[in-house]
Amino acid sequence: MKTIGYAARDAKTPLAPYAFERRALRDNDVALEILYCGVCHSDLHQSRDDWKEWGPTLYPCVPGHEIIGQVVAVGPKVTRHKVGDAVAVGTIVDSCQQCDQCRRGEQQMCREVPTLTYNGRDRLTCETTHGGYSKHIVVRDEFVLRLPEGLDPSRAGPLLCAGITVYSPLRTWNVGPGSRVGVVGIGGLGHLAVRFAAGLGATVTVITRSAAKAAEAKALGADHVIVSTSDEAMKAGASSLDVIIDTVPVSHDVSPYVALLDVEGVLVIVGNLGPVPAFSSLPLVMGRRRITGSPVGGLPQTQELLDFCARKNILPDCEIVPMQQINEAFTRMDQGDVHYRFVIDMASLTAA
Ligand SMILES: [Zn+2]
Ligand SMILES: [Zn+2]
Repeated sequence: MKTIGYAARDAKTPLAPYAFERRALRDNDVALEILYCGVCHSDLHQSRDDWKEWGPTLYPCVPGHEIIGQVVAVGPKVTRHKVGDAVAVGTIVDSCQQCDQCRRGEQQMCREVPTLTYNGRDRLTCETTHGGYSKHIVVRDEFVLRLPEGLDPSRAGPLLCAGITVYSPLRTWNVGPGSRVGVVGIGGLGHLAVRFAAGLGATVTVITRSAAKAAEAKALGADHVIVSTSDEAMKAGASSLDVIIDTVPVSHDVSPYVALLDVEGVLVIVGNLGPVPAFSSLPLVMGRRRITGSPVGGLPQTQELLDFCARKNILPDCEIVPMQQINEAFTRMDQGDVHYRFVIDMASLTAA
């Protein structure tokens, strides 16, 4: 299947139009016309080959793993989807499906490494996978999720990576009514963490460096705000939280946040921080507090998130851009100049 997209040709040049082939449908494949694709920080970093520790970027690189589309064709053995269905695809498009992690629905932690939606290798042909900055994609049946009715397709994309990244730890640590949840940072991930935690019935505290963000945090649904640059506010918040979702994307001292955890509280890091400054083990030992991390979620949990958002009418705040403005969007995202997530309207991408 011939299709078009936008690709990075190397680490230095901007993304540009790219014509390529999607594979012919296998028996269990679903072909999608992509309607919208969210813009994730990973897209920018992978395009620029910033993540050498995860392996080099395979060029040309067509990024995009927050995909919303409509089914346009299915293979003969597809059972979950039919032509015309509204569907979604996230960060992975295949896994071994046999290992303990796959069997318990945690395909993102597949022992044989899941196949990434882009910059991955197809399990059968070893061809480079290409993501959602394109008109069409072909994905095996099991990795295509259902977009529930009532969920605005133009805003649902960011749920597939940013959203599930913060929803999964909330579920892992049993957040519900009575839980006291802290969210550090209110960007793409943080603003969703606030809405999800509130939607799950928790009391939500936003921890931010800037007092100016207090009103913004409350508007998102936060009950309380702690300005982390105020020693007084941090002292007053000591031992007051059960779960903290730390969305700060760069290396930082986690000690001040650990101090906000109550006995048996959990600090969850959801970014790839690399080494972090040393912290004292004392509050961990004395209060059985934990510092942990979390990746995206598996397929069942991602579907659960989409259904939860449809039921609760929760969506990210998005700025819709045409495909042709992706390089400007990358620059603005890099500068933190977006509330809170870009989504590409794929109708802007035509053969001309
Ligand atoms: Zn992502
Ligand atoms: Zn597996």
